[in-house]
This record gives sequence, C-alpha cells and structure tokens, in this order.
Amino acid sequence: MQNRRNFIRRSFALGGVFLTPMRQLFHTKKPIPSTPLAPKGPQKPIVISTWRHGLKANAAAWDILKAKGAALDAVEQGVRVIEADPENQSVGLGGRPDREGVVTLDACIMDQNYRCGAVAFLTDIVHPVTVARYVMERTPHVLLVGEGALQFALENGMKRTNLLTEKSKKQWREWLKKSEYQPVINIENHDTIGMLALDASGHLSGSCTTSGMAYKLHGRVGDSPIIGAGLFVDNEVGAACATGMGEEVIRIAGSAIVVELMRQGQSPRQACKSAVERIVARNKSLQNTQVGFIALNKAGEHGGYSIRKGFDYAVRSDRDNGMLDAGYLLS
Ligand code: ASP
Repeated sequence: MQNRRNFIRRSFALGGVFLTPMRQLFHTKKPIPSTPLAPKGPQKPIVISTWRHGLKANAAAWDILKAKGAALDAVEQGVRVIEADPENQSVGLGGRPDREGVVTLDACIMDQNYRCGAVAFLTDIVHPVTVARYVMERTPHVLLVGEGALQFALENGMKRTNLLTEKSKKQWREWLKKSEYQPVINIENHDTIGMLALDASGHLSGSCTTSGMAYKLHGRVGDSPIIGAGLFVDNEVGAACATGMGEEVIRIAGSAIVVELMRQGQSPRQACKSAVERIVARNKSLQNTQVGFIALNKAGEHGGYSIRKGFDYAVRSDRDNGMLDAGYLLS
C-alpha cells in the first residue's frame, strides 16, 4: 500500500486548473504507450474504478466492454477479480476483519434501469457483488444483511469459504494487543473498490465492494452497500461511487449528490469536488479522514476528487489505460 502511495504524484492542487497535461497524470508500473489524454474527450465504452487495484479490475471489465458486452456484466466481473485476490486486504477474500476477528463484507450493484441489489455484514462468501446481483435479479428486495444474506447466498449456489487469511489474522492479533479503536481511513486499513462503466450501447452501471474499515465494531456497515451513498447510477445523467470514511459519505448521501450535481450541469470532477466540499464544510476536525469520489457521465467524461492527497483511480478505454490522480482539498 505504501509503495503505491509513494510513487510520484502530480495531483491537481486545491482549486487548481488543468495545467498539467493529463498524459503526465497517469501512472502505471510500465509507461503507458497511449496518445495524450484529452481532459474532456468523451469516450465510449469506458470503465473507471477506485485505487490502483482498479487496473486489474478494469482489465477484466474491459474484456467485456470491448466485445460490446453490458456495463452491468463488466462492473460485476471487474470487481470480482479483486474480491478473489487474497493479497488485497480491503476487499473480499483476505480482507481485514472486524475487532472480533470476523471478516464481514459489504457490496452493491446498480444498472441503467434503477435496478439495484446489495448485501451487508455478509460473512464467508468470496463474491458479495454477485450475491448483490442475485438480490437485484432474484428477489423483490434491494438489501439483505448478515445471516439472511449468507443463507440467501448459499441457497443460490455460493460456497462457504473462510475469508480470514493467515496474514490478516496475524495483523489483527497484533492490533488486539492495544485494541485501539481509531478508525483511521486512508492510511493503511481500507481501499474499497468502486467501479463505473459506460458500455457501447450507452448504458451505465456501477458496483462497489469492500471488507470495510479494518477492526470496525462487529456489525458496523459503511457506505459501500448503501445505494445513494457508496454508489448511485442514473442512466440519464451519470454514475458515481465513493471510497473512504463511510460514515461521512452516508451523512451527505454522497454518490447520489454527485449524480444530482452532474444533472445540474457540473462536470464529473466538479461534482465530486462539490460533494467533498460539503463533507469538509460540516466537519471542524477532519484529522486523518479521507473520502474520495469518482464519477462518470453519460458522455463518457470522468473525474475524481478527495478530501486528502493520495486518492487515485484507474481508467480503461480504447484510448487510455492507467491511473489518474484525483484532485484534493487538503494535503
Ligand atoms: N467506504 C468503506 C467503508 O466505510 C471503506 C473504504 O473505502 O475503504 O466501509
């Protein structure tokens, strides 16, 4: 995680103008052989997702999008790659547990027709995003939680799996020695993946999946499975998703706000910035708090913004394949 954060960043400064060519803002381990990115060039199909793990997730989503597949399939299959990766300690298998040592997962998915499904406080299932999709497609409900979500997942053919890896267990045991309950976000203990896609037919969809805040209280659920907070899609306008301190995102209905601001004419980046400003304005002490939003509009333009420096997102289209640093308010 630190390595990821340590690579050179050329972020947009507070209130900054697009002075740095977009090409220079993209980073991957290998140089990107793509042509320079136009800041406002609409692109379709396109997929964007939070953090560096988004590169791998986007690759799976892109296989679907470039074959003219559905955005809904792309956002499900894309984030499944990260859910199944035991090395990733903030999503799915290998996620950091709560203070009781239990890995509990939250996820949601939403398509171009306001159809949505979600699961929260789900244990023992590697792919909560697929359970969320089953909730959407196979029940009249939107959100299932805990035991009920697990029972539903098992009834729908998912296998029970121990999600707590040795690595995460060891770190949790270390944490137990002091048991300091300080939900510090954007340091070492989080990184939800949220993904937004626009397919060749012009349909938008989104997904969001996480193991939530490390060492959280047993039963705590963040923004990630809450439609309107962690994710929102309105096919007439655009889509948005969030990462970071979920409580702050829920308080302002973050992703729904970003979409509504785009409806009022703001660019994806400006809409994310406005939502971040709303969080900061109502918080006197934002020590160690990070929230980031990414957004994609109907035209295929995208943007991201966060409270603090260090948030980036992955972009994949015919033209682009790389990381983009989001703008930020505070360093
Ligand atoms: N938003 C997630 C939560 O609050 C955490 C994260 O993005 O890492 O559960």
